[in-house]
Amino acid sequence: MVRPDRLAHLALPFFEDGHRALAGELDGWAARHLTGIDHHDTDRACRTLVRMLGDAGFLRHCVPAAYAQGAAHGRAGGASTALESRALVVCRETLARHDGLADFAFAMQGLGSGPVTLAGSAALQAEVLPRVARGEWIAAFALSEPEAGSDVAAIACTARDDGDAYVLDGEKTWISNGGIADFYCVFARTGEGDAVSAPRRGTRGLSAFLVHAGTPGFEIAERIEVIAPHPLARLRFTACRVPKSQLLGAPGEGFKLAMRTLDIFRASVAAAALGFARRALDEALAHAQGRRMFGQHLADFQLSQATLGDMAADIDAAALLTYRAAWLRDRSEADASGDVNGGRRTTREAAMAKLVATENAQRVIDRALQLHGGHGVRVGSVVESLYREIRALRIYEGASEVQRLIIGRDLLSA
Ligand SMILES: Cc1cc2nc3c(=O)[nH]c(=O)nc-3n(C[C@H](O)[C@H](O)[C@H](O)COP(=O)(O)OP(=O)(O)OC[C@H]3O[C@@H](n4cnc5c(N)ncnc54)[C@H](O)[C@@H]3O)c2cc1C
Repeated sequence: MVRPDRLAHLALPFFEDGHRALAGELDGWAARHLTGIDHHDTDRACRTLVRMLGDAGFLRHCVPAAYAQGAAHGRAGGASTALESRALVVCRETLARHDGLADFAFAMQGLGSGPVTLAGSAALQAEVLPRVARGEWIAAFALSEPEAGSDVAAIACTARDDGDAYVLDGEKTWISNGGIADFYCVFARTGEGDAVSAPRRGTRGLSAFLVHAGTPGFEIAERIEVIAPHPLARLRFTACRVPKSQLLGAPGEGFKLAMRTLDIFRASVAAAALGFARRALDEALAHAQGRRMFGQHLADFQLSQATLGDMAADIDAAALLTYRAAWLRDRSEADASGDVNGGRRTTREAAMAKLVATENAQRVIDRALQLHGGHGVRVGSVVESLYREIRALRIYEGASEVQRLIIGRDLLSA
């Protein structure tokens, strides 16, 4: 059932007409094109989705406008001069409501190329970003390691300066698109902070590199399966030479670059959670109105109405925080004087959005599943897949505990 108020939330003043048009266009496209994708072969499905999203012009929102030429296919509107948080939020919320893997395919093009957008040389940007926007090259973001997940400063993968190249040795794990990506933005220790005392040393000596798949010394050490299947791998670097031209930003600036990238994409993780939660509410409403029991419909019971009310309130609370984070970041970027938001970064708001939207979505989906009874746990049902899809969002790009700490520390330092 298509509800007439499906996109009513975008009437809020956080958004402009261009965002509303984008959401309507993507929602219609997703309804027409995403139902027939076979998800059994996840790698293949993901490659197909990246290509489709590129062909349809939607990946232009994952790169700055200057590099989106040729990816728009004459569509109305267009990408922004910089990465625009609200466009990312609108795209992820809309795609996640239809298909988790489509959202993943979209998101990774942005996250995986984010360090190139923010800090790559003009030559690297010109080489990589148009291909990302057209869906020709698949991107990956390689920060986490077996001993460095929440504790990013513990990164042990090294990059040794050697003439015209850096030589990478070490491992990365949990890398989305690992195994199918054409390039990886890899964070490794170059040691600039060695003279600084611990614990600050850890974040000082990191640098970022673009590594092409197929570079000698780079291999996929292991493919990892998770409860909501998508391409994921552990990577290994053994004396892997990466030309200095593929350094992203200045040596020693890798930690800041990783955090700047995550600042942009955390609000978009919140938006994906919101899309999953909205789909769960859609499913719950349809089921509760159709399921007969005790001589009436499930929706006729006050207990069901209270459950649906709680779900809607959780969704709206998450939406307001998510939209605020995206709007504030876009305003901060647009305002060269830095006056917006007291001149500070929007890290706290992005952390609040991710924390609340992912935790609320988990609750909303669980309630939707409960309303479905046995059908809720039946493999292949929509709520069953949402139940698996949402879980990792409370862990990656900073677990909920990490978001709480970011918010708390920001309050104390204000
Ligand atoms: C599906 C999936 C996709 C991913 N994709 C990528 C990717 O593309 N690129 C990438 O670089 N990484 C990726 N990751 C890695 C992800 O960012 C890490 O899993 C995450 O940062 C947590 O690290 P960890 O798994 O090592 O858990 P740990 O760091 O060991 O943390 C375990 C748990 O401890 C708790 N915790 C954390 N910090 C604190 C604290 N200070 N106090 C109390 N408790 C705390 C949290 O509950 C956390 O879940 C992905 C992970 C998953 C699951």
